[in-house]
Amino acid sequence: MNQHSARIHRAASRILAQLSAAAACAALLAPTSATASTCFGTTDSGRIEGAVTLPASGRNFSAYSALGVHLGRTYVHTTVRDIVAASYRELEAIQPGVTYVYGETGLRNGGPMPPHRTHETGTSVDFMVPVRASDGSPATLPASAANRFGYDLEFDSKGVLGKLRIDYAALAAHLDQLNQQARKHNAAIKRVIFDPALARHLFDTPAGPRIKSLPFMATKPWVRHDEHYHVDFAIRCAPKR
Ligand SMILES: [Zn+2]
Repeated sequence: MNQHSARIHRAASRILAQLSAAAACAALLAPTSATASTCFGTTDSGRIEGAVTLPASGRNFSAYSALGVHLGRTYVHTTVRDIVAASYRELEAIQPGVTYVYGETGLRNGGPMPPHRTHETGTSVDFMVPVRASDGSPATLPASAANRFGYDLEFDSKGVLGKLRIDYAALAAHLDQLNQQARKHNAAIKRVIFDPALARHLFDTPAGPRIKSLPFMATKPWVRHDEHYHVDFAIRCAPKR
């Protein structure tokens, strides 16, 4: 390397160092979401602006139905998107081999999304129960238009459906992560709806003690929540106008 090219090399290194410092700075300053959503009202009478879709799939999760995604039924508040995505990332190591499936969440502008009675502010998410096959290997629910993409499936009181059984350990670990990630995002879990008879089994799992204090709905829900669990996140919404 002659003197001239050494000078150029030094100058280039300096610029690269400055650039990477600037990039690191920008990464630190950048919010998780470019623009945060704003929700209005309540989950049973509300709407949302700037909602985003959950990623259709990732290394250990997927949406319940490509059609549902296409029809725009998987919109959420940006904070909810960040909580759900971070939880799945953590679960890769905690529950290896498990594929989590989420269900319906909300519409682009929120508001009523029949047949759901809530889901109006982008702060509600349905998750399909993780299941295992009879040999103990992780499985996913059979989802098709015929069973309303999993929503029409019926588990017995022990959480068994044919050769599938609910993976309570994976489900409890998921709720535990959602709770932890919600706190990291200055939010919380406001309500969990899951069949009370089935929910009892969650507390005997490794994550069970940590989720015992979550606000599980104690009364009988309007539809039996056995094939999915519904989570409302406590996100501050503006009054509806
Ligand atoms: Zn729901």
